[in-house]
Amino acid sequence: MIEYSTELFTASIAMADYLERFHDRRRFEELCRQCPCYGARWCCPPLTDCAHTDLHRYTRADFMLLKVTPLQSGAPLEQARDIIRRERIALERTLLERERALGGLAVGLTGDCPYCGPDAVCARTAGDPCRHPELVRPSLEALGFDVARTAEELFGTPILWSRDATLPPYLTLVCGHFV
Ligand code: SF4
Repeated sequence: MIEYSTELFTASIAMADYLERFHDRRRFEELCRQCPCYGARWCCPPLTDCAHTDLHRYTRADFMLLKVTPLQSGAPLEQARDIIRRERIALERTLLERERALGGLAVGLTGDCPYCGPDAVCARTAGDPCRHPELVRPSLEALGFDVARTAEELFGTPILWSRDATLPPYLTLVCGHFV
């Protein structure tokens, strides 16, 4: 794995404000339907748990944004998978500790669920319960929030995309905790 540096930023917003300005469940559900993970991972839509669907029960949304900067430019994009997996597990561990201490709902990161192993098939594909429900939480996207705007407007950090199969200047991981 290539070397990289990380910077962690935090932000908070009233939940009513976050719902009004950044939430569009129908739009993001439609986008999620185009992903092969839709209905095939327990962290992805369609979500049925009322802790995930009744978001007005929370009063505040706290966020963490991790900016991951590769120390060499032009590294192949495949490197992103291992970097994101490692940093995601560490970030979500922090979120789950907060959830245990304060209640509410930890909101994880999007993408392939890492908890059954890198190439495991999710139990949902066979209609079975999640093997690690104590670790798995939905992402902001799965809950219907605009993560790109969250990063840009609450952190001033636009999400960058790869253009030529190499890593962008930085990767952005955004997750949160609703209390
Ligand atoms: S922990 Fe395993 S069973 Fe649960 S959502 Fe992740 S891949 Fe699926």
